Amino acid sequence: MGDEMDRAQGINEDFQAFALDQNLRNREPAIYTGTNCVDCGEEIPEERRKAKPGCRRCLDCQNLHENWSAL
Ligand SMILES: [Zn+2]
Repeated sequence: MGDEMDRAQGINEDFQAFALDQNLRNREPAIYTGTNCVDCGEEIPEERRKAKPGCRRCLDCQNLHENWSAL
């Protein structure tokens, strides 16, 4: 019985740490002003930055990102 409680507690703490981590990760600046992709660090082409002000990813990473978040 005691073990059961401890395990449930542990899972809960893991989940909270995970949720907090996700929360921090998702907190990105509203407008990204850097010139490099936040994922791969490659410079984002100027025409892309002009076309999409505040974009944080190069085209490749943006595609990957959108595919992943669609799952
Ligand atoms: Zn990239």
